[in-house]
Amino acid sequence: MGYSTRRLDRKPTIKSELDLQRMRDAAKINVEVLQTIWEAIKPGVTTWELDQIAYDIIVNKYGAVPAFLNYPPGSRHPFPATITASINEELVHGIPSKKRVLKDGDLISIDCGTIYKGYVADSAFSKGVGQLDEEASNLLRVTNESLDRAIEQALPGNRVSDISHATQKHAEKHGFNVPRQYGGHGVGKKMHEEPHIPNWGKPGKGLRLRPGMTFAIEPMLMAGTHETEVLKDHWTVVSKDRALNAHTEHTVAVTDNGPEILTLWDQ
Ligand code: MG
Ligand code: MG
Repeated sequence: MGYSTRRLDRKPTIKSELDLQRMRDAAKINVEVLQTIWEAIKPGVTTWELDQIAYDIIVNKYGAVPAFLNYPPGSRHPFPATITASINEELVHGIPSKKRVLKDGDLISIDCGTIYKGYVADSAFSKGVGQLDEEASNLLRVTNESLDRAIEQALPGNRVSDISHATQKHAEKHGFNVPRQYGGHGVGKKMHEEPHIPNWGKPGKGLRLRPGMTFAIEPMLMAGTHETEVLKDHWTVVSKDRALNAHTEHTVAVTDNGPEILTLWDQ
């Protein structure tokens, strides 16, 4: 789930080795959810069914807590599901529904967060349903590459906007856009910690990265305009021109040995 403030310089919490171990435990559960949903995605399946898979693993199998369900606390319109499922022109925060049936050629993005023993893991993938056309498969490939490029910048001594810049540069090189108000975030005991990590910007700005910082890095790529709007359901973010979008995300720790991807799995 993305985060939308504009401050790059607010201090994140620094995690101890024990904190990181607990985040790895949360990440393992989150990975199992995403892998299981990945296998279940096919034409004819509803996004509500995918949501049930996530709830069942997080709550019934592990006794963990879905980070997105009823988020944010106290909101008049809390998010009503365990995953977000965003299809085609939907960029992020799509609400799962029994009426939403996957079709051949859809490009779907699934985002999930798990809280386990007080620590959060947050990650997302995009996938084609059946066969994608050329534009969609190109967008999907470049989105995944953008995540790799962004994560490579999560190094001690770099700054927050080095991550942002890597995403924007790779996206635009391939003719795609990035949203201006949605991006990644610090993550740990809370899902949304400081700092905000935009998907765009000049390099070398904001907070300097240190070992023990943990971030949810989440490129969002748009085939058309970078402008977005939120639908009447209060959550679903779509591109203004209804062009195709994709989103991918990992929870990553900055370490002396380079970025550690806590939510890594083989897609
Ligand atoms: Mg997320
Ligand atoms: Mg996130």
